[in-house]
Amino acid sequence: MKWRTPEPRPYYAKYKRLPVENDCGGWFACYELPGDIVAICEPQHLQEVNVYLIKGSERALLLDTGMGICNIEPLVRELWPGELTVVNCHRHFDHTGNNWRFREVLIADEAGALRQAREGCPKEPLRNQTDPDMFLFGYPEGFDPADYWIRPFNARPVEDGHVFDLGSRQVRLLYTPGHLEDHLMLYDLREKILFSGDMIYLGAIYVQFGNDVLGYSDLDQYIASLERIERELPEIRAVYTSHNDFIMPPSCTGMIRESLLAVRDGTAEGVPLRDEKYGYYGDPETMKQYFFDGFSIIYKE
Ligand SMILES: [Zn+2]
Repeated sequence: MKWRTPEPRPYYAKYKRLPVENDCGGWFACYELPGDIVAICEPQHLQEVNVYLIKGSERALLLDTGMGICNIEPLVRELWPGELTVVNCHRHFDHTGNNWRFREVLIADEAGALRQAREGCPKEPLRNQTDPDMFLFGYPEGFDPADYWIRPFNARPVEDGHVFDLGSRQVRLLYTPGHLEDHLMLYDLREKILFSGDMIYLGAIYVQFGNDVLGYSDLDQYIASLERIERELPEIRAVYTSHNDFIMPPSCTGMIRESLLAVRDGTAEGVPLRDEKYGYYGDPETMKQYFFDGFSIIYKE
């Protein structure tokens, strides 16, 4: 991992950088991707989360709102001044931090996600996210680490299978529990692009959450969700991910599903995860990390 070396990730060179004004001093970086889609990323924080703006002729869809360390709303307005629908792929802080700045955010109809919308996510479990080591160039201007939490927001539950009509393109929503109970993906029916959230990417894949605040992972559900994707969407052309490199080939889905099966069936060998900082909310002593080609799986039996 390049973490804390100032060189940009090499994969950014594959994409066209979009010059923007409201980038909060370089905190946000925007890239133009095939299919009339803009990726907004936060490369200065270890999470390296990707937010997507999917543009139609009538309306745009914003998938997630970032960490909430900087205000993403003026940037979104700069990129898309028109009608906007905001959706979360799941309730974790790195996807929902700026939700409160938008009139309404659509989420899965799931108890934990609905509770977070009402109450927010408190400071304590997020404290390690504001550790100076998590920031490439220190805190951005105006950010107070002591005040970092996820604020409540106006949520509207949306059902599995819902189709968003953006004019000139339609996007289908699919419930895909596994990483968390409320995880969902979006499928662009025109471009045949799957927005996979935190369930398909090349990096550390988290299947170890197990508390009321940050939610619950489920390995069997994770596998079933990927099977559903492969069964119902055999024609996917590309997978756009919420962390790390933006675009993955569709074969990634099967590769990750097979690795999850190997973890479940005990044919893969894990190593104890003892790094508290990257252990992610739970006793790191009880977790194992399983390494595969280009990604790893973090799992708690
Ligand atoms: Zn995430």
